[in-house]
Amino acid sequence: MARIFCVANQKGGVGKTTSAVNLAAGLANVGQRVLLVDLDPQGNATMGSGVDKRQLELSVYDVLLESASIQEAAIFSEKCGYHVLGANRELAGAEVELVDLERRDRRLKKALDAADADFDFVLIDCPPSLSMLTLNGLCAAHGVIVPMQCEYFALEGLTDLVNTIKQVHANLNPDLKIIGLLRVMFDPRITLQQQVSEQLKSHFGDKVFNTVIPRNVRLAEAPSYGLPGVVFDPSAKGSQAFIEFAKELVQRIPSL
Ligand code: ADP
Ligand code: MG
Repeated sequence: MARIFCVANQKGGVGKTTSAVNLAAGLANVGQRVLLVDLDPQGNATMGSGVDKRQLELSVYDVLLESASIQEAAIFSEKCGYHVLGANRELAGAEVELVDLERRDRRLKKALDAADADFDFVLIDCPPSLSMLTLNGLCAAHGVIVPMQCEYFALEGLTDLVNTIKQVHANLNPDLKIIGLLRVMFDPRITLQQQVSEQLKSHFGDKVFNTVIPRNVRLAEAPSYGLPGVVFDPSAKGSQAFIEFAKELVQRIPSL
């Protein structure tokens, strides 16, 4: 059975896409069959996996509108070692087009059910909002991985996300839970970050992943080469951290 996780946080620029592509590459690196679903019309996860969003013949848009299956629309990225169900601007229109359709929040789930045997992990890179797209992600997933920066308002921002997850759990998807909080762009020299990190651990206990992703310029450079940092420069500190994170996640699976 495929493990399906949303990478979500309603804030923009917190490291969702970076986490999604590098975790996908890290999991592929340790031998897992991975599908990365780009649910953001910006298509950053698509481009960051070496797939040109401007040249997609089929995308997650077609899957949501049931005009293509995942087998038809997903592209294997040779360089990255995982499949990508890509997105581009067209996906922004899906929001409107889905409104009148039946089971509009279950479209992705239905499509993933049909591809369940093909993958060990499905990672869904969500847009920074609670839209119909994100809802499709949350309805399809077993859990949510929340990347977050250890900054002053981090805990406040989490309250909204935790409430959203609780609501979806209660009304739409009883499987859904928080898999864990991933501390990203971490700089141990900054006292405030250490303090927030400690607060997170005391609030959320073992829901905070052990692995910490450092701020690392190689991770930020990699997308301009159309690659995850883990593929672009596997020896960089940030890449090593994502490979560790992939191993930690695989180890946690039996207890989830
Ligand atoms: P989101 O998908 O949440 O909007 P991104 O993953 O696109 O966030 O990250 C926002 C910016 O921060 C990008 O420019 C990205 O390259 C950079 N970034 C993300 N993680 C790191 C990191 N660990 N170290 C350095 N830069 C990072
Ligand atoms: Mg993003």
